[in-house]
Amino acid sequence: DDFSGLGLSPKVTDAVAAAGYTKPTDIQAQAIPHVLQKQDIIGIAQTGTGKTASFVLPMLTLLESGRARARMPRTLILEPTRELAAQVHENFEKYGKNHRLSVALLIGGVSFEEQNKKLDRGADVLIATPGRMLDQFERGRILLNGVDLLVIDEADRMLDMGFVPDIERICSLLPARRQTLFFSATMPPEIEKLTRKFLRDPVRIQV
Ligand code: AMP
Repeated sequence: DDFSGLGLSPKVTDAVAAAGYTKPTDIQAQAIPHVLQKQDIIGIAQTGTGKTASFVLPMLTLLESGRARARMPRTLILEPTRELAAQVHENFEKYGKNHRLSVALLIGGVSFEEQNKKLDRGADVLIATPGRMLDQFERGRILLNGVDLLVIDEADRMLDMGFVPDIERICSLLPARRQTLFFSATMPPEIEKLTRKFLRDPVRIQV
């Protein structure tokens, strides 16, 4: 019941050990092997359950092969607020310190110039709020056809904040052949509908 049997790469398990974590939480133990097998996931979990690492750790492992090309992020993480986006960014810094990956944060309050520099050089991971991401897409700063993994985090908060149309638009711009990881604390009917539309044979995990 430690991190060694989940299929994570040595770089990632080393970073987890350095962070002082010895035992995966329920959502981590259940989600990580499926993410590594490139399956779609619906994770019904609150914050505080370790849900962030349940997608950050396997993403780091998957990203070890391949590399980013200019303006073409390889993976996209959507968060409802700047604060949550910044927290996910911190998780990538903490667990990804042995990786040479480029992680771009696209949120209000960070200068476009700084964000564009990272995007132009190529981002392995783009963490964004939906409005800011679409804004940069419309300006031609991002190409979305290289994204092979999408994370929609805190989907019920996205709904409360009126982001569902933006999410639908973003999903329609991404390659249909991709992996989608979907997290929500609750599953109201509008959210169930979104999962039916945008996930393929998802594994459902409730903690
Ligand atoms: P989250 O649910 O992603 O917001 O994480 C909640 C807190 O749990 C964060 O402060 C993490 O640093 C911590 N955490 C994540 N995974 C573990 C773990 N396996 N063991 C102990 N703490 C953890």
